[in-house]
Amino acid sequence: MRIHVLGSAAGGGVPQWNCGCPNCRTARRSIQRSAVSARLHPSSLIPHPSLRRTQSSVAVSADGKRWVLLNASPDLCTQFASFPSLGPSGGKLRGSPLEAVVLTDGEMDHVTGLLSLREQKNLRLVCTKGVLNLLKHDFPILPALGRYFEIQHSSFPSRIAGLQILAEDVSGKAPPYAKRASRNGDVTGLRIKSVETGKTLVYLPGVSAITNRVRRLVDGCDCLLLDGTFWSNDEMTSLGLTKRTAHDMGHVPISGDGGSLAWLSGLNVKRRIYIHINNTNPVLRKGSRERKAVERAGVEIAHDGMDFRL
Ligand SMILES: [Zn+2]
Repeated sequence: MRIHVLGSAAGGGVPQWNCGCPNCRTARRSIQRSAVSARLHPSSLIPHPSLRRTQSSVAVSADGKRWVLLNASPDLCTQFASFPSLGPSGGKLRGSPLEAVVLTDGEMDHVTGLLSLREQKNLRLVCTKGVLNLLKHDFPILPALGRYFEIQHSSFPSRIAGLQILAEDVSGKAPPYAKRASRNGDVTGLRIKSVETGKTLVYLPGVSAITNRVRRLVDGCDCLLLDGTFWSNDEMTSLGLTKRTAHDMGHVPISGDGGSLAWLSGLNVKRRIYIHINNTNPVLRKGSRERKAVERAGVEIAHDGMDFRL
């Protein structure tokens, strides 16, 4: 199974358009430096701005030819452009080896990329009934898109292009736009297995607590891509950006007693990788105390363009 991280940031990306936090300021400066350097030395290799990240989305393929997209980021167009495997093949004028889009939830940063797929003729969309209803009624992008192309919906479990895909409710929060209280199936984790090799990826970009259900979902997998939104529960409140803690927003923080790093440290999974990282998170800074703590535990930090096989 091949896994390509198209985007590794939480909602807003890095830099977020209106954010002046230290990470966003540094990312903005490095982008400007890269632009200047490209003008002065057009043939030189531009160093990748290490903090810069687009909003999270992952492409997965069992055979390296047909691809399944896990969530559709608002940055989808840039992400597809940076990964030619998702473009038309064999000199075709139109087309994409995209077989389906699978959604973990209905959050804006995971679904608005669907709008950028409207040049399709049809699209296979896999999500829970709860997420489908949100996108039909509360944030009705599916009825709007239905006027552009045909959408074939199915729920879990699903089998697509040599991948078996299961979903488990991780009891998170409904998106802020929802007109109803949260329900089972609003936020799920995905377990994706290559039918041929048996290798398994678990994708959990939003998880509010490490429950027994989460432990069971992850058990025996070969790679875990896990919610790394916030380092601490009070990350946003201490910066004065909001009154809502990480827990209030449905994300288990990395640090602390009930945090995800304590769990990951003792977890017998070969590759444990944080993804969906918020721009305020100090783990984005190489050499930071927080980054070193993650690295000491043998856990990786996803970056855009990260590409590997299981
Ligand atoms: Zn920021």
